[in-house]
Amino acid sequence: MRVMLFSSFIFIIWAIDTPLDAYAANADVQQNSDSLLCRRCGHDITYTAKLDNRASKLALRQRNDTILGVQQCLVQLFRNPQGQHFELITVTSANIKPHGEAFEEHSWFPGYAWRLAVCPQCGAHVG
Ligand SMILES: [Zn+2]
Repeated sequence: MRVMLFSSFIFIIWAIDTPLDAYAANADVQQNSDSLLCRRCGHDITYTAKLDNRASKLALRQRNDTILGVQQCLVQLFRNPQGQHFELITVTSANIKPHGEAFEEHSWFPGYAWRLAVCPQCGAHVG
């Protein structure tokens, strides 16, 4: 698989189906704000201006939603090899900490490698 080295984006976990404690670790919307927050600690993860729809042919389902007051935000559903479902949004940048090495296999965005991203404040898995 070819990896694009000069182009990148970040996917933020919008929702996880299970377990409940993992769901609590992904991003949430702060009322009356343009910030997307870590659901565990409230750290600012990203902002309205960073939302960037990147469609993937591998998404199980795609829908448009209003996020942070921005209409037509693409929310995509994926399943990892362990069978866990994730809804993701994509952004151009975020206040996250890359975790571990990058992998080419099991990428949900062909042509891109992926790695885990955690909240730099509390370590919650956010992307
Ligand atoms: Zn956090």
